[in-house]
Amino acid sequence: MSWQLRVDGARCIGSGMCAGAAPDLFALDDEHARPVHERIPDDDRALEAADICPMVAITVHDAQGREIGPRD
Ligand code: SF4
Repeated sequence: MSWQLRVDGARCIGSGMCAGAAPDLFALDDEHARPVHERIPDDDRALEAADICPMVAITVHDAQGREIGPRD
């Protein structure tokens, strides 16, 4: 199984919380974060990063394309 990570550059304010929490999953380029790899093996830290993003800029999709993060 693999998940897909997306960062909405229009929402991201570059807080760096995602890259701080999971630097192998998210990187900061200038003022915006991006996924290091668009597709990753299942990794709960991706969901945790989506949960803590203050701008709800991170979404995580499962192998079927369903949005599984951020969680409610
Ligand atoms: S936590 Fe959210 S707002 Fe902060 S850098 Fe990451 S994607 Fe951008």
